[in-house]
Formats: sequence, structure tokens, C-alpha cells
Amino acid sequence: MPDYNIRNQQISEKEREFENALRPLSFNSFKGQDKIVENLKVFVTAARMRHDALDHVLLHGPPGLGKTTLSNIIANELEVGFKMTSGPVLDKPGDLAGILTSLEKNDVLFIDEIHRLSPIVEEYLYSAMEDYRIDILIDKGPSARSIQIELEPFTLIGATTRSGLLTSPLRARFGINMHLEYYDTATLTSIVKRSSDILDIQCSDDAAIEIASRSRGTPRICNALLRRVRDFAQVKGTGIVDKAIACYALEALNIDKYGLDEIDNKILCTIIDKFNGGPVGISTIATALSEDSGTIEEVYEPFLIKEGFLKRTPRGREVTVLAYQHLGRSRSEREGYLF
Ligand code: ADP
Repeated sequence: MPDYNIRNQQISEKEREFENALRPLSFNSFKGQDKIVENLKVFVTAARMRHDALDHVLLHGPPGLGKTTLSNIIANELEVGFKMTSGPVLDKPGDLAGILTSLEKNDVLFIDEIHRLSPIVEEYLYSAMEDYRIDILIDKGPSARSIQIELEPFTLIGATTRSGLLTSPLRARFGINMHLEYYDTATLTSIVKRSSDILDIQCSDDAAIEIASRSRGTPRICNALLRRVRDFAQVKGTGIVDKAIACYALEALNIDKYGLDEIDNKILCTIIDKFNGGPVGISTIATALSEDSGTIEEVYEPFLIKEGFLKRTPRGREVTVLAYQHLGRSRSEREGYLF
């Protein structure tokens, strides 16, 4: 199935630029996640009133749901500086020290993929988060000595798609811990409308609903689909994104009506074809797909469960009737299941 880089977790520089143009900059333009936003507004207002740094925040949830966006918004609303890095980039304590010492009072440091920090860097982070200081070892051999550097108070915002991989000492150092949920179609529709206004695309309401409903509950995907549909509207239509051209484009892009992606469908097919529909353990599914079991569990499975394609049972994962129908398979050959 073609992918067109719409659902890939790895996004290109160009996609990143496009995303930045569409990123909401304030709580008011951030759609959905009402409870999280409500609470964050209170915490941000309180920190501002006290002129304190906001407590450290951990944002977790599948990719593309707005973790980076929310972190940016928090810094904007606090009216402080924002620095961004990621777990795999910080491979030496010196890299972390360089960033931490450049922070000004109450600034926000955003670390994406915080579950991928090296253990040694993570250890340095503990004292930085707790006491706003770090001990750095300078020189080697007999002249090696440790110096203590005082830091300005700051807020660390960690984002992760794999909260299960976070060590408990690190997790315990976040005062605010929030899980982002998939978006409903109504919210995604309003995101498509907002993005089409920014990009100056004429998009009808029913086309926006169509795009939203096939976006796997994910704003990043609905924005990417809008862009692709716009291409089809320009080349094959009148330039206006209406429902007919949206359906044509989404069909051409092989986006099914539930918005499931290639790996989602592979997971379902594997359980049906190799394990007779389940129940089957997550590690067995992962081995059959040559995927990481944690990624399946934390990134793919929640959406499949939410949409009713998969269920968790005490004996493992089992696909539902909806999955059979969706993939056009029959379950009648299996004993005890006659549909
Ligand atoms: P994550 O960091 O969780 O992978 P991002 O914050 O990078 O996701 O969001 C991906 C894209 O989706 C961004 O370009 C942003 O514009 C858009 N987006 C995410 N959440 C929202 C939202 N609640 N409202 C509007 N746009 C959003």
C-alpha cells in the first residue's frame, strides 16, 4: 500500500516547516484535549502569578496529537523562552549542560522522545530538575574534578510516545503528568477548517468532515491529508476542495474509510491469518510483524481498540467482527464463531 509519508512517524524537513505554519500558538487556538488544556491554564496562570517556574510536565500519547504544539503554547502563555531538543540528540552530559546553562529564568526546555535519553544524561537531569543544579566532571585522570553549576529555575517538558519505557525516578520528577487522547471527528473537522483558512484553501464542510474522519484521530494526519487533497483539487478538479474531490483523492491515496494505516491493517491481518483471529500475545504479534512490541502496544493498539477492531483479553489480543468485515474476511471457518 502506498504511504506518501502521510502516516510516517519520521517526518521530513519540509513537512516540519509546513507543520510549524499550522501550529496553534495559544490555548485558545488549540482544539480538543479540553481537560488537559483546562488544567494547564490553571497551572500556567498560578505559576505566572507567583513568578515561579511551572512544575515539570510530562506529555505522553501517540505521535501527532499535539505534544510539541502544547509545549510551545505553554512557553508562549508563560511568556518565557522555549528551547527544544530530543532524547537521542543529547548523548553526552556536556550537551545537556550546554543547553541547561543557556536557559533564562523560568524558561521552558522541551525534550522530545524523552524515553530515549541515555542513562547517564538522565542521571544528570535528576539534580537539574530537582535542585536546579548540575555537577559536571571536568578533565580526566588524576586532575579530574567535579564542579557544581547553579541553574536558573526552568520547566522541563518531556514528551514521549512510550511512557512505559520511562524509568520511575524520571517519571517521579514530573509534577504534571498528562496523557493526550485521540481526537474525535468533530474536533478534527475544526482543525481541517482552521488549517484550510491558514493555507487559503477553499474547503467545504462535508469535505472537511470526510478528511477528518479518515485521519486516525490525529491532527498531524488530517493536516497532511488536507495538503494532498489540495493537490488533487488543483490538478484534477477546480482547485476547490469539495466532498467529491476529497473522496477521489483519499481513494487514490489508499486511505480507508476508518483511516487505518498500513501497520494497523498489517496487525489485524496478521492476527487473522496467522493466529486465527486470536487471542494471541502482543510479543508474538510483534515477532510476526518484526515490530517492537512496545510500539505496537503504545502507538498502534490504542487506536485499534478505540475504534473497536481489536480487544484485549486475559489470554491476549483478539480481533473483532468489525475487523473481519473491514478486511473482507470471513470468520466462519473458526469453531464457535459463525457469522
Ligand atoms: P506530537 O508532538 O504529539 O507528535 P505535534 O504537536 O507536532 O504532535 O502536532 C502535529 C501537527 O498537528 C502540528 O502541525 C499541529 O499544527 C497540529 N496539531 C496538533 N494538535 C493540534 C490541535 N489540538 N489543534 C490544532 N492543530 C493541532
